Amino acid sequence: MARSGGKINVVCQNLRCRYYLKVKGNDIIKSGKYRIGHQRYYCKHCKTYFMETKGTPLYRKRLSEDEISNICKHLVEKNGIRFIERLTGHHWDTIGRLLKDMLERAEQMNDYLIKNTEPDSI
Ligand SMILES: [Zn+2]
Repeated sequence: MARSGGKINVVCQNLRCRYYLKVKGNDIIKSGKYRIGHQRYYCKHCKTYFMETKGTPLYRKRLSEDEISNICKHLVEKNGIRFIERLTGHHWDTIGRLLKDMLERAEQMNDYLIKNTEPDSI
């Protein structure tokens, strides 16, 4: 799904910002990308940079979004962690931690997946 400029659907992640988690009236621009491909944003109100995935289960994970969604697909198909390890080349410990993290934040993860996943990609 191509985003054509215009409104960015991102909220400021800075607790001290007047526009913290507020959509209305915020002034956030895209500002380059991080090494693993996450979009970086800049809030003009509090002059802070933040990552798109901050506040989601993907934040501070070394895996890229594609890799995580790939692992999720295998999990959804009820493949075992060892099997997924062989398929993706990620250590089972990494996959296990991701799984644990997602279960602990299941509600948030659910919202995230609903917002970020195309209906036919799982
Ligand atoms: Zn801000």
